[in-house]
Amino acid sequence: MRSLPTTLPGYERLNGRIPVVHTPGMEQRASEVWQLLHTGAEALSALLELEPPELETMLVADEEWNEAPREGERAYPKGLPYFTRSARPPALVLPATLSPVFRPRTKATYPLIVWHELAHAFLLQKEVVRTPAWLGEFVPQAASAAVARRVGLPLDEHMGMIDREPGFTVRGLKGHADAGEQMAFQNLLLLLGADAVEEFGDGFLKRLVRALWVERDVVHEERAEELLADALGPGGREWLASRPEF
Ligand SMILES: [Zn+2]
Repeated sequence: MRSLPTTLPGYERLNGRIPVVHTPGMEQRASEVWQLLHTGAEALSALLELEPPELETMLVADEEWNEAPREGERAYPKGLPYFTRSARPPALVLPATLSPVFRPRTKATYPLIVWHELAHAFLLQKEVVRTPAWLGEFVPQAASAAVARRVGLPLDEHMGMIDREPGFTVRGLKGHADAGEQMAFQNLLLLLGADAVEEFGDGFLKRLVRALWVERDVVHEERAEELLADALGPGGREWLASRPEF
């Protein structure tokens, strides 16, 4: 089957291991994204001992957001990056303007978002069964923190601005969550992931991804906790139990 390039009319293209197609006039942002993707892919490849996925990135103008590839008919909320396998090759779709829901805003915000989505693409190189949302999002949050650590991007300012007590834990957030709660949830996972990387080193991510890939049935709560604790290694279970955000 011939694969069609992921593009919109008039879009320009930066070639590379992970090409970036972008709306005209966004050359500066496109080259920043290109750089982040390539440093991120290199770090994630080393960290997970995996080849980077086949992937293109689209940097989409706000007014063309509804034309971007996606699963299903309905347009996605504006300003929220996502990864989609509806295009060939699969695409990482980034908005020209990030939704105001992204908090905190520091020098680390944009790199962490790009690496988070890239980590999803690495994970989805194989089929992943359903897991509780917290485990599915913990992997890319911890991976983005691990990339930051490997490439020397300081996270102190960013971490310092996160609300550590939003009124729920990552396992406790159930049912419909509004955009603010979703962000708080992701930020708790980022804190947990970054601290796990500090405490145990980043090797647990490779073990966790491999463990998720061999699961064949839906991963329920208890199994999810076990998978994470085992991947962390000795002391993992106790450490998780000691974490207020968990
Ligand atoms: Zn995610």
